[in-house]
Amino acid sequence: MSKEQLKDAFYVQNKEEILSRLETSQEGLSTADAKERLKSYGYNELEEGKKRSLLAKFIDQFKDLMIIILLIAAALSVITEGMSGLTDAIIILVVVILNAAFGVYQEGQAEAAIEALKSMSSPLARVRRDGHVTELDAKELVPGDIVLLEAGDVVPADMRLLEAASLKIEEAALTGESVPVEKDLTVALSVDASIGDRLNMAYQNSNVTYGRGMGVVTNTGMYTEVGHIAGMLANADETDTPLKENLNQLSKVLTYLVVAIAAITFVVGVFVRHEDPLRGLMTAVALAVAAIPEGLPAIVTVVLSLGTQTLAKRKSIVRKLPAVETLGSTEIIASDKTGTLTMNQMTVEKIYFDGQLAEVDDDIDTNNMALKIMTFANDTKVDASGKLIGDPTETALVQYGFDHHFDLPDQLKKEPRVAELPFDSDRKLMSTLHQLADNNYLVAVKGAPDQLLKRITRIEEKGTVRPITDEDKKNILSINKTLAKQALRVLMMAYKYESQFPALESDTVENDLIFAGLVGMIDPERPEAAEAVQVAKEAGIRPIMITGDHQDTAEAIAKRLGIIDPDDSEDHVFTGAELNELSDEEFQKVFKQYSVYARVSPEHKVRIVKAWQNEGKIVAMTGDGVNDAPSLKTADIGIGMGITGTEVSKGASDMILSDDNFATIIVAVEEGRKVFSNIQKSIQYLLSANMAEVFTIFFATLFGWDVLQPVHLLWINLVTDTLPAIALGVEPAEPGVMTHKPRGRKSSFFSGGVMGAIIYQGILQTLLVLGVYGWALLFPEHAENRLVHEDALTMAFATLGLIQLVHAYNVKSVYQSVFKVGLFRNKLFNWAIPLAFLILMVTIVVPGFNRFFHVSQLSLSQWSVVILGSLSMLVLVEIIKWFQRVTGQDKKAI
Ligand code: ATP
Repeated sequence: MSKEQLKDAFYVQNKEEILSRLETSQEGLSTADAKERLKSYGYNELEEGKKRSLLAKFIDQFKDLMIIILLIAAALSVITEGMSGLTDAIIILVVVILNAAFGVYQEGQAEAAIEALKSMSSPLARVRRDGHVTELDAKELVPGDIVLLEAGDVVPADMRLLEAASLKIEEAALTGESVPVEKDLTVALSVDASIGDRLNMAYQNSNVTYGRGMGVVTNTGMYTEVGHIAGMLANADETDTPLKENLNQLSKVLTYLVVAIAAITFVVGVFVRHEDPLRGLMTAVALAVAAIPEGLPAIVTVVLSLGTQTLAKRKSIVRKLPAVETLGSTEIIASDKTGTLTMNQMTVEKIYFDGQLAEVDDDIDTNNMALKIMTFANDTKVDASGKLIGDPTETALVQYGFDHHFDLPDQLKKEPRVAELPFDSDRKLMSTLHQLADNNYLVAVKGAPDQLLKRITRIEEKGTVRPITDEDKKNILSINKTLAKQALRVLMMAYKYESQFPALESDTVENDLIFAGLVGMIDPERPEAAEAVQVAKEAGIRPIMITGDHQDTAEAIAKRLGIIDPDDSEDHVFTGAELNELSDEEFQKVFKQYSVYARVSPEHKVRIVKAWQNEGKIVAMTGDGVNDAPSLKTADIGIGMGITGTEVSKGASDMILSDDNFATIIVAVEEGRKVFSNIQKSIQYLLSANMAEVFTIFFATLFGWDVLQPVHLLWINLVTDTLPAIALGVEPAEPGVMTHKPRGRKSSFFSGGVMGAIIYQGILQTLLVLGVYGWALLFPEHAENRLVHEDALTMAFATLGLIQLVHAYNVKSVYQSVFKVGLFRNKLFNWAIPLAFLILMVTIVVPGFNRFFHVSQLSLSQWSVVILGSLSMLVLVEIIKWFQRVTGQDKKAI
């Protein structure tokens, strides 16, 4: 049991009081102290709703119509047939219990997979411990920890703020107010201030949308404000995927259908053929057993959760189970450029100031404003080992300064930073204010040239400042263009002096500036990106690049990656400014032409996603910043970035790339396609078997034959069928999964020829089973009628069971020959088939067991007929597949 935490109204106390109440300091806790506190306060976690016990889960498995029917059948057998009915009842019970145990097991598997995914994508916090900033799992936070916050963070615990630089926090989850609140440490609050008014506090699970801050953790876990709100804690059940819902739907339809068919068979049997009503009832039960694919929902969950495990190994962490399914049908992948298609490893290549363009290695006079501004307006930190920490765009600039012996620490000591306007991707600018020795202020601004040039009125050349002319501007823009066309990211630097501390607003600070220079940085493409783009295109998926960078930089990189055709000189790049000019309707008419968007802001991304969705396309979209959350949520698959992504963006996504790499998305799509097609295989396999069973019973009743009893069908459905069906769920991808078009929004698990296959394969199985039964009646090996029927029943049972095992090979591909797909590529399958075979054989040939199933010992010639009949299933299906390929039906079906 964890220790009680303080319940003070921290927002009315001053910083010193709070720090001493929490026995901490601005330097943070020591690791040892934090460890002790963790022991007494417990993890910073919200308690989940009570887990259901194993027994409760087991009992739940019996709340199923099918199971209830079976239990009634078992009871009826005992009541009406006494001892001989008892064996049936025992088998039914064994199967029902096995089924329930399997159900509990698969539920546990799915839960474990989801738990594992949760822990893989758990949020991190930046904490000061032992005087150093370290990143740790947010659940390890304790009261007294000093936590740093910045735009994009999810506040990891309740905290009293000690610093707030333009800090804005969106607290909708707690207050219902969706407009972010600007935090302010100067206001005095009374004890009855509401949560929304507590401007010096930050609460767990709220989102930092802007600025920077630091706070001391006051409460964690269930003692936080969110912890107090009951009901918010239980995560929405995300295990039900659309596919599973469809399956549940299908099961319902099948149940009604079966009840109807069973009723008809009963009526025909009892009133037309004047059979014993009990026998009629048992046949009706047999039909019900035959028609419903009991194992299917369980198999689908297992296949999906296994899919998430494979995806995790391949660097995609799925946060929501349905994403596995949707991935496979992705038609558009809209990806950020920086970090996803490129390495996000910036290096300065060129610098322009004083009318001169210098290469990276050229010696430059370090006494120039361009160098000063680009390193001043910069958040790069140096860690204990001398490594530069921060945004790669910014560290590159500082690195360049260091390489050219610019003494930044000394300069900053003389002209310390006193305020800032943080970078945001809408403004595309960042500014800092520095106090000078003469008490004036230096305003240092860097940012996107097209944004900054508008705010420049003067230019510095060789130490003198003069008004900027149109000629100067033209010249600067042309240098910008030259650099951008070489795929360089270009930043502009500007500055001004102020005698008074200005109002901290963009319009005041970032205006009337003096041009200082330009800098061009290269961010190389990821080596695997071009190939991944190619694979996507072959798979009928359109890659779209979205970037905040300049259109020329964007175009140069898009051409290198093959997103746009390098030989096509037409204008392929659409800019955020052009997008602003168009209404949604106008954009809807032209958007299809463009694969590259430049200078866009995060809100443009939502419009791009929606335009494609209106076209019926399934869109995956990447995002990393706090403002990307809406587009990540709008996309069919929101893809977050594991390394550079903000916690807010990760929280809004369906899947996270642990390596931030575009190529990983393509790998995930391939996995998604494989998972979907494997689920289709399991469905095709089970439903064709069920159909064969229904038809067999139905026709047998019409002919007055006693082909199969409920126990036989049960055994085959739940024991022999389940193993191959699960194994089919983990088939390796069929050759060519990434050479056909995505299946799109309208497809279902019956698409791609699966429906047709179920029908013809179900009919073939029926004919073979009835054929073998008929053969046994025509060529009896006993004189006694009862024994002839027993042999026939045994042969039909053995054939139906063996056909399942043979048919599992057919299902490996809807149209391809199994010999081409590969007989032994699936290890699990290689085990499942012999095991299922063994189970089947034990029930038929082992003396004692066979009595349970009312089967007799077959002669060699009878076995030959059974084996021949079963193998014909492979031969016949191969012939039909061949015919389908020759007539081109396989091409039409995709
Ligand atoms: P992408 O959208 O391709 O992933 P990005 O996310 O890096 O790129 P933004 O961060 O929105 O794009 O940057 C857009 C533009 O803002 C850049 O092209 C650059 O001109 C400018 N910029 C980027 N980082 C900074 C920064 N730290 N300071 C000032 N300006 C910047």
